[in-house]
Amino acid sequence: MCSQIYASKTDVEAFLAKLKITPCPHCKKTGFLIKHGSLIGFVPNNLGDTVRAARAVRVFCSNRHLAIGCGRTFSIWTADKIKHLFLCADSLWQFLSNAVDSGNKIQAFRLLKCTLSDSTAYRIWQRFLGAQVAIRTALNALCEPPRIESNSPAQLTLAHLAKAFHRHALSPIAAFAATFQTFFI
Ligand SMILES: [Zn+2]
Repeated sequence: MCSQIYASKTDVEAFLAKLKITPCPHCKKTGFLIKHGSLIGFVPNNLGDTVRAARAVRVFCSNRHLAIGCGRTFSIWTADKIKHLFLCADSLWQFLSNAVDSGNKIQAFRLLKCTLSDSTAYRIWQRFLGAQVAIRTALNALCEPPRIESNSPAQLTLAHLAKAFHRHALSPIAAFAATFQTFFI
């Protein structure tokens, strides 16, 4: 299922308000898109607990009754959420930056005060490492990497990210998602 990523909830609502005049991203036909439920996942609340909540909105190109859409769906995300990741974009940025600065992933992860186990920190870190080539390729289209002395590819990637989006209203990882229409990791 393809995804579209918007900077804010307001932008998502503005998109949903115009569904009937918006072409389907799959078949390009206009007039058949309808809101079709939400993607539910687990998210942290203010108390540090985990609760079920809507993470994205699903949109359906209707082929039911007299509608002649393509029957496919796509999902609408706000840039602070990342598919298949419990952490929000801001927390992920804090974790990765602190981990690079301190060299201690577990400590950086515990600073987030979330309910996830330490092994999750390593899994997220591995996912970040796996995504680095794609991240740097995307960033190179925006600006050159910063000239910093570092032997750590992870540090260079985060510094490049920070440089690319230092004027953006969103935190760097959310700005990346909204700009490139792809999830950071
Ligand atoms: Zn369609």
